[in-house]
Amino acid sequence: MRRPFVCGNWKMHKTVSEALELVDGLLERLDRFGEVEVGIAPPFTALHAVRTRIGEAPLRVTAQNAHFEAQGAFTGEISMSMLREVGCDYVLLGHSERRQLFGETDEGVARKVGAALDSGLSVILALGETLDQREAGDTLAVVERQLDAGLKGLSAAALERVVVAYEPVWAIGTGRTATPEQAQEVHAALRSGVSKAFGAEAAGGVRIQYGGSVKPGNAADLFAQPDIDGGLIGGASLKVDDFSAVCETAGAR
Ligand code: PEP
Repeated sequence: MRRPFVCGNWKMHKTVSEALELVDGLLERLDRFGEVEVGIAPPFTALHAVRTRIGEAPLRVTAQNAHFEAQGAFTGEISMSMLREVGCDYVLLGHSERRQLFGETDEGVARKVGAALDSGLSVILALGETLDQREAGDTLAVVERQLDAGLKGLSAAALERVVVAYEPVWAIGTGRTATPEQAQEVHAALRSGVSKAFGAEAAGGVRIQYGGSVKPGNAADLFAQPDIDGGLIGGASLKVDDFSAVCETAGAR
């Protein structure tokens, strides 16, 4: 039985004081979330304050990106070990906004996945097709290519610290969600891709989140799908009531 994982991706939102206010709201509601694992991905500037406020409470701190090099002349970048030092549990890699707006490639994402795992972080590996790719009938080929590239060279043991997030690009921040059936089809294909590369046991254990305009009103139908193990939540994670409702839904699955 896979434990569902819901993570809020705050993107470039929330000052430190706003972040702490949201964290306080979530900490008050933690006992409603049941067995679901819950994470939040604040901007870099709030990571330390958020980690300190959370203390030992079961709320996973996630960074939204990092560089694959350990250190060096990379102005404006942050290394995996820096994230570890401030107490991050996960790092989100390969988000479509990073791929589309900042030119990240499958190869670069793969290097980041390796560096994150080497540093002791767990990884949320995001992937998904654009609308053009879906309309051309290329969805499964695209996500399988991104999956293979992102997981290339990992051991089955390392894979245990990777969560995959399927996020159709056309559903991110658009209010347009994949139907549960569309999402399930891709999740099943991704799980079968993991099975081919790592074996059936690894595939049965890997968690695959769905992301793309998940909100309280559509979460239950998505999370009821057999291969959907929680969600990566953007807009709805910025409001304590909406995010809590999504987490409760995943916990009730
Ligand atoms: C995201 O950015 O990962 C995301 C899923 O955003 P939204 O929920 O706003 O579509």
